[in-house]
Amino acid sequence: MTTHVQNLIDGQWTGDPQTERHNPARPEEIVVVSPRSDAGTVDAALTAAQRAQRGWAALPAPARGAILMDAAELLRARQSEVARDLVREEGKTLAEAMGEVRRASDVLRYFGSQGWRLGGEVLPSSMPATSVHTRSEPVGVAALITPWNFPIAIPAWKAAPALISGNAVVLKPAELTPLSATHLAAALVDAGLPAGVLNVVHGKGSVVGDALARDPRVGALSFTGSTAVGLGLHDVLSSRRARVQLEMGGKNGYLILDDADVAAAARTVAASGFSLTGQACTATSRVYVTPRVRDAFIEALAKEAERFVPGDGLAETTGMGAVVSEQQLAVDVDAVRRAREQGATVVTGGRTPDGSFFAPTVLADVAHDSDVARKEVFGPVVAVLGVADYDEGLARINDSEYGLTAGICTTDLRAAHDFAARAQVGVVKVNRPTTGLDLNVPFGGVKDSSSNTFREQGPTAVDFYTWSKTVYLGHE
Ligand code: NAD
Repeated sequence: MTTHVQNLIDGQWTGDPQTERHNPARPEEIVVVSPRSDAGTVDAALTAAQRAQRGWAALPAPARGAILMDAAELLRARQSEVARDLVREEGKTLAEAMGEVRRASDVLRYFGSQGWRLGGEVLPSSMPATSVHTRSEPVGVAALITPWNFPIAIPAWKAAPALISGNAVVLKPAELTPLSATHLAAALVDAGLPAGVLNVVHGKGSVVGDALARDPRVGALSFTGSTAVGLGLHDVLSSRRARVQLEMGGKNGYLILDDADVAAAARTVAASGFSLTGQACTATSRVYVTPRVRDAFIEALAKEAERFVPGDGLAETTGMGAVVSEQQLAVDVDAVRRAREQGATVVTGGRTPDGSFFAPTVLADVAHDSDVARKEVFGPVVAVLGVADYDEGLARINDSEYGLTAGICTTDLRAAHDFAARAQVGVVKVNRPTTGLDLNVPFGGVKDSSSNTFREQGPTAVDFYTWSKTVYLGHE
């Protein structure tokens, strides 16, 4: 079945669906057709957002929250249908998609409930008969530019804190996944979100995203995607001193120490590297192993990899979904070819014999300065590298232009604590997969992984979408 989706402008679904998106697991199936919008549509969306924002901000925060919580319930009721569309559109497994839709629903509920708690601080004044408090004011109109890999959860975790704190939103979803974003918007519209408060504009990043970034009506832009695009947006937004939040690429490292439980470490790294077809910004892609456990770990990881049987995400036997696109598949294939040329051994994996899927791949004998050890692949490719000890392992983890997540498998408390303190990343995992964070904890990175100013998710996510005003009240 092919779904035709439209833009959402001022409460109306408009625009001619033109761009076809095929199912990555079944290329003959057209899943969705979406509009190829231009700068004029962006202008209309921003006009509607600006007009609607005042009334939305004037609504009591608990009333705004009630709409978000109603949308959460609707999404939960539609979970199976939305998850199946997500699989057909993006390629991940049904279990992963069900989890993601649940996450989007939970995010709406979590931020909806913050409608009862938003507020400022009361502070003592040095003046008599004077009280001081702070107010959190919405920035106004927030633009959200999102990637394909979590096509409903990321739009939800950006839109929910923006909306609850009184902003209007223009969302530009990834070209590859317009349908998942439409399901999120539909849940909010059906829950009673006033016209213009959320607008969705589909189309190319270089057209729609660029027009959003350059428009002075956008007070804050939150972006998740590649580092190259993110850094370009940073320059545009910063030049007019607008807020910009960037979550970008990663080259997440894991360190396995001699004292680790090898079987558990292999399970943890396989989950980190191969779930979501390796297409998670938090996926582990390089693993440093100390000498005593090296061989046993590689063998155990290769065995774990076999459990991630690639295939159509809707099939019950599938352990790992399709690669999102032909372009990404070419990147995965090329990364393994170059790794081989640079001396690596393919322990298991590579492209499947029929050519349409990419099997979980473990590379050994990888040189520290080779491309696969340093550059993001964004596929199910895990490079294993030898290190002499903990100190070298930590230094190697930190020797990267990226800094999103890092993990360590050890039973040594001292090493675990030291790693937590000294790993130059936004998220540290000890004996747990680098992928997967709760919605109530801050998420973000350092270095070229993130703008490293405001964190997403968790109780402080609204900070990006608000500014603090200090009010003195004299009362005599
Ligand atoms: P991408 O940068 O190509 O696209 C992301 C979004 O930006 C899309 O909506 C796209 O249309 C838009 N865009 C593209 N060019 C633009 C431009 N010139 N101006 C404005 N917007 C533009 O990234 P992608 O291929 O969709 O996603 C994969 C990348 O995202 C990977 O590098 C991955 O690491 C990163 N990612 C990071 C996180 C994180 O939280 N750090 C999460 C998911 C994905």
